Amino acid sequence: MTILVTGATGFIGSHFCVQALQQGLDVLLLDNLENSSLKVLDAIEQVTGVKPNFIEADLRDKSQLTQIFSVNKIDSVVHFAGYKAVGESATNPLMYYRNNVAGSINLLEVMKEQAVHKLVFSSSATVYGEPVFNPYTEEHRKLPFNPYGQTKSMMEDMMADLCKSDSQFSMVALRYFNPIGAHPSGKLGEDPKGIPNNLMPYITKVAVGELAELGVFGDDYDTVDGTGVRDYIHVMDLAEGHVKAIEYLNNHKGYEAINLGAGHGYSVLQLVKAFEDVNQVKIPYVIKPRREGDLAAYWADATKAEKLLGWTTQLTINDMVRDSWAWQSRNPKGYN
Ligand code: NAD
Ligand code: UDP
Repeated sequence: MTILVTGATGFIGSHFCVQALQQGLDVLLLDNLENSSLKVLDAIEQVTGVKPNFIEADLRDKSQLTQIFSVNKIDSVVHFAGYKAVGESATNPLMYYRNNVAGSINLLEVMKEQAVHKLVFSSSATVYGEPVFNPYTEEHRKLPFNPYGQTKSMMEDMMADLCKSDSQFSMVALRYFNPIGAHPSGKLGEDPKGIPNNLMPYITKVAVGELAELGVFGDDYDTVDGTGVRDYIHVMDLAEGHVKAIEYLNNHKGYEAINLGAGHGYSVLQLVKAFEDVNQVKIPYVIKPRREGDLAAYWADATKAEKLLGWTTQLTINDMVRDSWAWQSRNPKGYN
């Protein structure tokens, strides 16, 4: 039975596909290549020994989706495709609602029309907004404060409503914390276009000499060393969480939102130090003002994932910084 993977050539989707193929799952990869490269397919093949089946398609084109569902025996969907830059979502919100919400509605409609009932969706800890308490449990109220977070929250609500309306559906929204790291082979990794917004790809680009120094956004937060604290999770652990979620969907109906995080946080400077120590590379940095919209600290309560999915993180911060650097140092220009 085939698992359709949307956004399959992106950072997280590609690592999931490797994990799925290595466990003998049958995956059909879909992406519009807007934020990824066809070279990812070669990397997946090199790592797994399997040539992946790939379709270039856009979720905003419903007729294309209908066609794909009618000619393939799709049993479930893992839905990664979408835009993910918080700042861009504030300057161009409609583009985000069109892709992340309208594109996802197309997918849900086609699933309903074609009687495909199982879905795993990439949500985000950003749906919680300002922490009322830490760590966030799944019951923490949702109050996203940027359009990107709104799109994730809206898709979650649509999934929950759809499951309520029709008891055949089983759907899981996985709320990711901060995915970093790369496949340990150094053949797959994160390859952002332009100057990275996120911390880890910025660090690796400083390490490789492409950027001069890291700007640390604020050192006056109420945290261990004044810098922001996040729950970093290795992308291979994250990928495995999706495999477990598919197993869960095979045996359960209804909707669940589940945190995927390590359950503890590291500060910006702790991450920088781990990177330097493990990789023996110096990361020059300067303290900059706080970045607008940033929260001081949050991390996951990951007990629901353990209880429902039988999943916990296996890899450490040292694994994350080692694998991120293995990828970037072997591929200074990413997939190009
Ligand atoms: P990514 O940009 O690397 O991957 C997304 C992929 O989706 C890209 O390959 C892109 O070309 C494709 N895509 C975008 N719109 C499409 C469309 N309309 N039709 C078909 N393909 C389309 O991002 P990622 O880091 O791999 O993130 C995957 C998912 O996880 C996203 O939904 C993102 O919002 C979510 N997420 C990511 C993070 C993170 O830190 N990376 C954290 C929380 C949630
Ligand atoms: N950060 C930083 N410099 C950067 C990018 C990020 O100091 O160039 C900090 C940011 O303020 C936050 C943490 O690193 O405390 C993680 O930020 P990222 O953008 O990776 O993820 P977020 O949690 O914001 O989604």
